[in-house]
Amino acid sequence: MLNEVADGVWVRQSEWVWSNAIVVRGEGGLILVDPGINGSELNELGDHLDRLGIPVVAGFSTHPHWDHLLWHSRFGGVPRYATPACAQVADGAQERAQAMAAQSASGIPLELVALVTPLPADGGPVPGEIIEHQAHALGHAAILLADRGVLLAGDMLSDVLIPLLDPRQSDQVGAYATALDRLGDASRHVDVLVPGHGAVAKGSEVADRLAADHAYIDALRRGEEPVDARLDQDWLSGIHQSNLEQAGHSSG
Ligand SMILES: [Zn+2]
Repeated sequence: MLNEVADGVWVRQSEWVWSNAIVVRGEGGLILVDPGINGSELNELGDHLDRLGIPVVAGFSTHPHWDHLLWHSRFGGVPRYATPACAQVADGAQERAQAMAAQSASGIPLELVALVTPLPADGGPVPGEIIEHQAHALGHAAILLADRGVLLAGDMLSDVLIPLLDPRQSDQVGAYATALDRLGDASRHVDVLVPGHGAVAKGSEVADRLAADHAYIDALRRGEEPVDARLDQDWLSGIHQSNLEQAGHSSG
């Protein structure tokens, strides 16, 4: 299913960790943001795109993690963009991303993993405003489509995933606080929020998502155990524990 969540913005959710492949209509054609995950799903997305009948002109990866660096030959040999910092990390992480893609999902065209290039300063074919920050990953980008009231949040503001501190960077609590402030400013223009994983938020749910991530990060900063409904999911306990340890408040 390809759902149109706003004017010229479509979402297809994967069975793998509720990952959202996002299709955005730009001036020259479609931009595919973080298409994923399984090969069969990428192929099905190709069918949806055929039915839309609008050419794909570019890809965009929100951050340099394998599940956001995928592609399929059916989408064409168009440029796949990322922030310059993301592109640099992805360039050095291709083998690791390929290995993780092969291990975690099925049928992914591994030769096309992580082939991203720096987005030109004027944004090239990618519409809207890029909001770049360092929370969760270096060069992490959200895309604000203010005229359509849409924020594509990357791996922030999810209803299923808690914040996941980047173990390769210091002061991720600070980076999250900064990023959430910037996304909060952007959200004043937003009715529809599309996270990298989980349900699309609409209307007042957008503020709820911001509040949940803020509360989690604030608790880490204070050295307290967060009160967070997402932590009811047992599979997140390892991630949560490493967040606590990285924030310097390990409960041991
Ligand atoms: Zn992700």
